[in-house]
Amino acid sequence: MSENKLHINTLCVHRSSPATRGSPVVSPIYETSTFSFRDFQHGADLFAGKVPGYIYSRMLNPTVELLEDCLAQLEGGHRSLATSSGMAAIQTLIATFCSQGDHIVCAESVYGPTTTLIKKYFQRLGITSTFVDSSNLNEVKTALTPNTKLVFIETPGNPTLVVSDIAAIAELAHAKGALFAVDNTFASPILQQPLRLGADIVIHSLTKFLNGHADVVGGAIVLKTQEHYELLRKTLNHLGGVLAPFEAFLVLRGIKTLALRMQRHCENAQKIAEFLEKHPKVKWVRFPGLPSHPQYELAKKQMSGPGGLISFELKGGFDAAQRLLNSTHLFILAVSLGGVESLIQHPASMTHASMPPDIRTQAGITDGLIRISVGIEEVNDLINDLDQALQQV
Ligand SMILES: *Cc1c(COP(=O)(O)O)cnc(C)c1O
Repeated sequence: MSENKLHINTLCVHRSSPATRGSPVVSPIYETSTFSFRDFQHGADLFAGKVPGYIYSRMLNPTVELLEDCLAQLEGGHRSLATSSGMAAIQTLIATFCSQGDHIVCAESVYGPTTTLIKKYFQRLGITSTFVDSSNLNEVKTALTPNTKLVFIETPGNPTLVVSDIAAIAELAHAKGALFAVDNTFASPILQQPLRLGADIVIHSLTKFLNGHADVVGGAIVLKTQEHYELLRKTLNHLGGVLAPFEAFLVLRGIKTLALRMQRHCENAQKIAEFLEKHPKVKWVRFPGLPSHPQYELAKKQMSGPGGLISFELKGGFDAAQRLLNSTHLFILAVSLGGVESLIQHPASMTHASMPPDIRTQAGITDGLIRISVGIEEVNDLINDLDQALQQV
């Protein structure tokens, strides 16, 4: 079987380790800030880019590089860059491609700090933005201007799990000469590969499913072209938000079980979503694997599984939310997602509290909205935990 025909489940296991014979099966952690040159000329040649090699770990580090190569292969991209967090990835992306006077079209259902980054920090630098319901193609189309440099979406989106049509938005963005980036954190490359659907750039928070063990903060940018890679590498080197070697080692270890974990996340979440949808205290449930999801058909077409995140609205609003979150035993009351343990949180007062209230309401983040990240525990234990906690509501 030729190398590029390998299934992604196999790539997860084998591309997260060094490929050559006679080397350790698991990558060493190159815990070094700098690399010695063989002689004067070697140092000068490395800096001139005449020979490949390592100079300084903010520029390139072997452990981090192995992770970058692995992520590029999992996403079907050309190259990737690992960053110190998902936010560092988004910041590096925008700082590379957008200048004063440029415009960004961003989905309103994105990670809270992404909205803040664009609306507050980049706005201050003269980069304007329009936030749209990215599941509505007309809204996306209308928002595009001749100055639009970047279209940025998250699908499934945070925290409402709205699903947007990657292929269709790629066409709209490209028709206007804009770049199209997709934050693929919620799906992971196991369930969705935006570059194959027409996106130019994929963003990840490695903190979530890719690492999967709630012990690393990291991010990544995956690119399709060498030109984009070189531009981003320069920005990342100058802004400095690089991933540390030990963190890269942990994410590589996490990736080995990514395919297995995603399968269990999806199976567990499907059963829990079905349980919640029938529960009398729950107003509605948003989960891409339920036929009641507004973009159920699109999710089936674009993703190979529904993922591990569920959002739902309690009939009792804010008070009910507070009671539920104080009553679970297995579901840990914490933000973040994509780890082996199940988590529960309240977006309006936690992950999305930093969003301007008008944009928050527009994005459907109401006071009774709960988001859960379903882990890999035994599903009946998780359902029983939610059941007893809902009785306290
Ligand atoms: C967590 C998250 C981010 C930010 O990543 P950090 O690693 O926390 O900086 C960005 N996008 C999505 C969808 C996320 O869930």
